[in-house]
Parts: sequence; structure tokens; C-alpha cells
Amino acid sequence: MFESLSERLDSAFKQLKGEGRISEINVASTVKEIRRALVDADVNYKIAKDFTDRVREKALGEKVITAISPGQLMVKIVKDELAELMGGTEAELDIKANPSVILIAGLQGSGKTTFSGKLANFLKTKKGKKPLLVAADIYRPAAIDQLKVLGEQIGVEVYSEPENKDAVKIAQNAIAQAKQNGNTVVIIDTAGRLAVDEAMMTEVANVKAAVKPNEILFVVDSMTGQDAVNTAKAFNERLDFSGVVLTKLDGDTRGGAALTIKYTVEKPIKFVSMGEKLDTLDVFYPERMAQRILGMGDITTLVERAQAQFNEEQAKKLEKKIRQNQFDFDDFREQLNQIKKMGNLKDLMGMIPGIGKAIKDIDISDDAFKGIEAIIGSMTPAERSNPDLIDGSRRRRIAKGAGKDIQDVNQFMKQFEQMRQMMKQMNKFGAGGRGLRAMG
Ligand code: GDP
Repeated sequence: MFESLSERLDSAFKQLKGEGRISEINVASTVKEIRRALVDADVNYKIAKDFTDRVREKALGEKVITAISPGQLMVKIVKDELAELMGGTEAELDIKANPSVILIAGLQGSGKTTFSGKLANFLKTKKGKKPLLVAADIYRPAAIDQLKVLGEQIGVEVYSEPENKDAVKIAQNAIAQAKQNGNTVVIIDTAGRLAVDEAMMTEVANVKAAVKPNEILFVVDSMTGQDAVNTAKAFNERLDFSGVVLTKLDGDTRGGAALTIKYTVEKPIKFVSMGEKLDTLDVFYPERMAQRILGMGDITTLVERAQAQFNEEQAKKLEKKIRQNQFDFDDFREQLNQIKKMGNLKDLMGMIPGIGKAIKDIDISDDAFKGIEAIIGSMTPAERSNPDLIDGSRRRRIAKGAGKDIQDVNQFMKQFEQMRQMMKQMNKFGAGGRGLRAMG
């Protein structure tokens, strides 16, 4: 995410390296570099200039503290300003009403339907709500099916009326049903068009007027940069929405939309969506995003993702098996699955401070575990639960079944064995489960 911007900012700070203090002269060239980096990340020139003017003012106004180098001081100032630009603190979703109605609007292809599914899943699993998803796209029958498929995956009801061509009526009927069935949140996925168009705006505005939603979330593809900002302006003028959702942040986005939407429309970014997995929706925290842009990682989000996947009971069971030296291939596979559920692998690694930069050009696909999974999948249940059974001839059979070379199996077995040895050592020193439990 935002790799090119991160790199450019990093090299701007390097200009201050070796400088004993911040002066008019050395700050000027750093600030110029920062401004260029922002403009290249698709930040509008005026916003970039205002931003760097503030940074310069703050830097020159800072007292020189010998413990902090000018470079570090500059990073801190830029981080605070970036967070401020993106909204300062996080913005809560208003879901107090019962049922709360959330209207989802945006262009076609922006990721509205996918986000609707993610939001329903988020509200169900994290907020204890009982959502109803509403398919109010009356032009594309496929959109109804898409929402139904998503609803099924997350176990959330979907309301649709394929024959009805009146989006307002559909929304009203859905809310009536929600009240009857005890749904606590109604998420209305509206129709989009490829570009801003009057008929679409009127339709969404009519739905808004009829159902008086508690939240109107505008969904926008972050990869469209300045266009995203312009589209946001157009939607906001008509709908006066309550929050922005940035999608496709997992893609090759330059960052302009994330950095400037809040400033331009004066509405907070409430969620960021990264990827097509339904459980990878993140509440937007400006401070954390600023840290990630500056290559400081985002340990808080990483830990939260881990906490969402690993539960106390599983952690205890695992701890016990490790303590009794019984960690086997079934456990190993289970751990892999949980890591995979935490999200895109490269994205996860990028949250570790300093790692994002290092792996920037390395292609880490989500298939990274495929080989290992094939090998484990090719074992018999008895072999999985008793790794010591696996002798030479079994290894050959496993390799063949997994479509791998015998060397691959040998190497994996060796690594697994080393891991078990390490666990044994940990047990000896009494650190075994405690460390793992702390994660769960
Ligand atoms: P809609 O027309 O606005 O409802 O958009 P969809 O939800 O159908 O999404 C359009 C396309 O973008 C689909 O292929 C989605 O799978 C994809 N998509 C949606 N959100 C994300 C995201 O956060 N990351 C990535 N990489 N793709 C996404």
C-alpha cells in the first residue's frame, strides 16, 4: 500500500540525516521533496502545498532537542500532519437506532456490493447486530444474485424483489420486514452507474428522502486517485453523505484519495476495504494509516486481526499439545488456516515495522502456503497426527501425491522437526504455552 509514496517520503527525510539541527535552508529542500512526493501520489497541488507549509512552520518552530535528530523530528511532524489531513481521530458509525438504516452509494464497480457484505459481516460478528442486506439495484439482476451469494457466505439474510422496478418501494418494504423480523441493521445496496449521472443521483436521493437513513456511506475505488475525490464531491453535493469507504487499498494505489478525500468533502473516512475476503474490513484510523505510510508499520491492527481469529479455547488446546510435545501436522495446518484468514499475506507483513519497505518488490502471493498444504494434504490422517510414522517410503508416497519432489518433502519435514525441537526447548524453560496464550 502506498509504497511509492512511502519510499519518496523516506528519501526526503534522509536529506536531513547528518544535519545537527533544523534550519531554514535544510528544511526547505526536505519540504520541497515532500511536496513533490505528495503530488506524485495524486494529491492536488494546493493541498500538498498547504500541507508542506504547515510542516515547515512546525519544524522551524520546534525547539531543538538534542535527543532527537532533525530527521526523526521531521518524521514525527509529518506523521501528525498526515493523520490530521486524513481526519485526526476515527469516526464512529451511528448504529444506535433500532433498526439502523445504512444506505450504500457509489459508482458501479467501486466495490459497493462487496463492501455491503463485509459491513454486514462486521456488524454481525463484531457488534452483535442482526443485519438485513437489501438488494436495491433494479437494473442489474446479477447484482441481486451477487448479494445473495455474499449473504449466504456470512449467514446474513438478503431482501430482494426481482420484479419490482421501484428502488424506493423496495427499500421501504425491506425496512418494514426488518422491523417485523427483529433485524437491528438494514444495509441498502443501491444501483451504481459507470459515471456520475443525474438519473442515478435522483434515484439514490429519493431512497434517502423516503427512508431517512442513519448513515449514508459513499463507496469509492481508491485506485482512481483524483477522480475518486471528484466523484466524492459530486455525490456529497446531492446526498450529503455521512462517511466514506475506500476500497481496493490492497491494489496498487498511490494514496491520493485516502489523503485528500476528507479534506475535500469534509466527511470522514469510516472504513477501508482491502481485498475480496469478507472478513477483511478495517475501521479507518488516520493515525495508524499515517504510520503505515511512513513505514512505521501498524502493529495495533495486526494484533487486532490476530485476536479476531484466535480464540482463548483454541489457544489453550494448542498450548496443551505443545506442552505435551504433541504438536502435529493437523495443528500446523490449523495454524496456517488461521493466518490465511487474517488477510492478504503481503499486507500483513507490511504491518510489521520496517518490513513493508524490505518486501516491497518481492512477490508474496497468497498461494505461498500451497506447496506445504499439498504435502500435508497428501498425508494419511494417521501420519498427520503422528509425524514420527513418516519414514522414507511414506515420504516418497507423500511427495508423489502432492505433486512435489522428495526433496521438498524432506525439507518441509526437517523444518517441522526443528520447530518441534524448539517447542521442546521452550517447554524445558517453562515458557511453552505462556507466550502463545498471550497471543490468543
Ligand atoms: P459494485 O458494482 O460497486 O457493487 O462493485 P462490486 O462489489 O461488484 O466490486 C467490483 C469488483 O471489485 C469485484 O470484482 C470485486 O471482487 C472487486 N473488489 C471489491 N472490493 C475490493 C477490494 O477491496 N479489493 C480488491 N482487490 N477488489 C475488490
